Amino acid sequence: MTMRAGRPTVRTLQPSLIRKLSNSAIGKTDVIPLWFGEPDKPTPEFIRQAAKDAIDEGQTFYQPNLGIVELRDALAEYQNGLYDTAFTVENIGVTPSGMTALAIALQCVVEEGSAVVVPSPVWPNLPAAAEILGGKIIRVSLRPRCGAWRLDLDELFDTCPANTGALLINSPNNPTGWMLEDEEQLKIIDFCRERDIWLIADEVYSRIVYDRDRAPSFADKVTEEDKYLIVNSFSKSWAMTGWRLGWLTAPKSLIDTLESISEFNFSCIFAPTQIAGITALREGESFVRASMARYRAARDMVADRFAELPRVTLPLPSAAFYAFFSVEGVTDSYAFAERVLHECGVGLAPGAAFGPQGEGYLRLCFAAEPPLLDRALTQMCSLLA
Ligand code: PLP
Repeated sequence: MTMRAGRPTVRTLQPSLIRKLSNSAIGKTDVIPLWFGEPDKPTPEFIRQAAKDAIDEGQTFYQPNLGIVELRDALAEYQNGLYDTAFTVENIGVTPSGMTALAIALQCVVEEGSAVVVPSPVWPNLPAAAEILGGKIIRVSLRPRCGAWRLDLDELFDTCPANTGALLINSPNNPTGWMLEDEEQLKIIDFCRERDIWLIADEVYSRIVYDRDRAPSFADKVTEEDKYLIVNSFSKSWAMTGWRLGWLTAPKSLIDTLESISEFNFSCIFAPTQIAGITALREGESFVRASMARYRAARDMVADRFAELPRVTLPLPSAAFYAFFSVEGVTDSYAFAERVLHECGVGLAPGAAFGPQGEGYLRLCFAAEPPLLDRALTQMCSLLA
């Protein structure tokens, strides 16, 4: 293997195990792909149409760094409606994806060498984005207890060293479907205030939750004096993964910094994409709710089928669209995912992709139509039994 080039910090970044596995199946046409995390449906027609209209109107010029004011305004209004908050455009920066929102948030607050504490398993891009900046990642384990994933807050707080620059929390969580409750979020904010630590909350799955309309959010608990950044995205809720559109919510005192960092990273976002975002926010609520109902049925179907397999344990996800399950006797999740791929024709993500805490698990994305899921589950049955 050739030596990786680049500065030492980035040379050691781990390549994505999900990509590695899926690349090994390029050209195989008979694989049921449940390894990536995205809705199975294309973006709704009315959202696509809004972008087409904007292109036809010639909206092809550079735009403001923080996003067009109409979209920032629509985002403030959307969040205020959802959380009963009082955000204004001055609290909002639009980004070209949730991933970029994460990277930008971390660039705003992480100093080289400072500790970034992350509950794990977690989507690998969160720790990687902090590592690129020279942040030192410290993982705190989520653990399954009584059939659900939990975070021990005392353990989280005790783990934060004196040089902690940021707490990086993804709730609802990819891959486990774990989510923080309101009281836990209040305790985390108190801790961050006491210790003067930045809170970066990744809430991209905030609208994919199974026992309520929206997940508990830090949005309705923080104040203008707090050090926080909330990451969100259009990708999951409005089936817009390929558009690359996300946003950050932050205290007004951070907005000028956010503007500069945006300028020096991506300058601006294509206007038709932003106009599609406004349409999604203003007209997309019934799509969000219908998607939820579909994912709930899919989750229940997967959980019922797994319950018939004694070697399989699935802590029931309360949010997001993943089944993160273990199989008795499986210790090498990558090797087992390879077997599932080659012997059953189903693409799953190996748990090790989500950090050492995910080893022994597999992630199945159930944002798919029931017949396809049914076929995947049937094909995996004998290997999992
Ligand atoms: N955060 C989490 C936890 C995710 O799972 C993802 C995508 O899978 C993102 C952020 C980024 O989403 P996007 O870059 O598509 O907006």
